Amino acid sequence: MIDRREFGRLLGGAALTAAGASWIGAPALAKGAARIVIVGGGAGGGTVARILKTEAPNLHVTIVEKRDIYTSCFNSNHFFGGFRTFASLQHSYDGLRKLGIEVLNETATDVDPAKKTVKLSAGERLPYDQLVLSPGIDFNYGAIEGYSATAAEIMPHAWKAGPQTLLLMKQLESMDDGGVVIMTVPDNPYRCPPGPYERACMIAHYLKTHKPKSKLVIFDAKRMFSKQAAFEEAFDKYYSGIIDLNLTNEIDDFRVVRVDPKALEVETASGTKLKGAVVNVIPPQTAGDIAIAAGCAGANGWCPIKPANFASALVDGIHVIGDAAIANDMPKSAYSANSQGRVVAADILAALAGAEPVAARYRNTCWSLLAADDSIKIGADYTPGEKDGKPLLVPHGPFVSQAHETAAMRRKNYEEGLAWYHAIIADAFNDNTALMHKG
Ligand SMILES: Cc1cc2nc3c(=O)[nH]c(=O)nc-3n(C[C@H](O)[C@H](O)[C@H](O)COP(=O)(O)OP(=O)(O)OC[C@H]3O[C@@H](n4cnc5c(N)ncnc54)[C@H](O)[C@@H]3O)c2cc1C
Repeated sequence: MIDRREFGRLLGGAALTAAGASWIGAPALAKGAARIVIVGGGAGGGTVARILKTEAPNLHVTIVEKRDIYTSCFNSNHFFGGFRTFASLQHSYDGLRKLGIEVLNETATDVDPAKKTVKLSAGERLPYDQLVLSPGIDFNYGAIEGYSATAAEIMPHAWKAGPQTLLLMKQLESMDDGGVVIMTVPDNPYRCPPGPYERACMIAHYLKTHKPKSKLVIFDAKRMFSKQAAFEEAFDKYYSGIIDLNLTNEIDDFRVVRVDPKALEVETASGTKLKGAVVNVIPPQTAGDIAIAAGCAGANGWCPIKPANFASALVDGIHVIGDAAIANDMPKSAYSANSQGRVVAADILAALAGAEPVAARYRNTCWSLLAADDSIKIGADYTPGEKDGKPLLVPHGPFVSQAHETAAMRRKNYEEGLAWYHAIIADAFNDNTALMHKG
């Protein structure tokens, strides 16, 4: 188990410990009347709720979350490679409820920012003083002809973890040795920039160890991608002859524009057609529907925010964090969502206490598993700033794994990534029991 110091180091953003003491017992908080509603009990929303209720037990904190069990996307790729069980990705809301947080397992269908209410699927309107939206992503199905929620039952995306993750694994297990797996990757921005390439390694690891005559063909809308040198080295070192990576180039546009679920066929923008035995379509994405319904999203489907505190740039009284926010240059990751959640909790507490806002500092690190004991990472710290008059999160001290690193370094990355998983589940779900290893 990691100790508290290691826990804090892996999550970063210790703004609360610096300023928290001045909020406790502050007059506005002592009254305890404020109602904070958080839509989305995931990496971002869970973090905000836990910190608010821990720091200010009098606050009325409600999470609206459509699922009663959270299945983490982060580390879900490990499941395909056999490095994690599905059960070890699942987390309940018991820990948050134990703190006194109200968790409503309902879908938020609308927000009225003028009346400060959130409408629930059952019709009830929930009043709030401050609203935090952390609904993650939804899919832009219209971007790929033939793809839809129904088609995803045949060609799974597995980009929201849960039944889709199990479906993709089941299809891989049912496939004959010698079959072709196709993965389609969208253009930026999307949830977890290195995620498709980690998934490629994990699927290829499964094929290598169970169905060695099979292939994984990747059609990618991009020309380059996160941690590319280290990933490409791993594709050669571990999965040569299995992974066939097709990045878009001057001649070929490998963006997938059409799929035929019945024929299990995909077609790229430059006309390449291929049939697979298993087709994993990762479609283009937008902010979660509720953030769009609340008026927080711009024309591109993502929510602009103020870098100082992730307050919506479009609607007063609402913070938007996690994947739904467009937070250049911070990537869409659970680590980012957790770090943003910490700052938002601090911002809300400071405002309620009539204290100065906290100087925000955010952090991200993303680990990707390539093969047993071999992980790479990328990350940076971020502070609010601007470029050419546009608000921006300015990266500091960026780092990224390179090709040709030592096995010891890669093993250390792997252990760090597992410890981080344990730490973020404790931070977002008040649950210290998340397994660090396979489970
Ligand atoms: C395959 C894969 C691998 C990944 N690996 C990593 C990794 O290694 N490291 C990393 O940092 N990140 C990783 N990520 C990214 C990470 O999962 C997301 O960035 C993170 O979960 C975002 O947090 P969030 O709070 O914005 O959204 P989520 O964690 O998705 O939480 C959103 C919650 O909101 C709920 N919700 C949505 N709309 C409503 C509504 N209207 N009403 C009620 N509830 C609603 C959803 O049910 C969900 O529980 C990975 C993603 C994928 C797909």
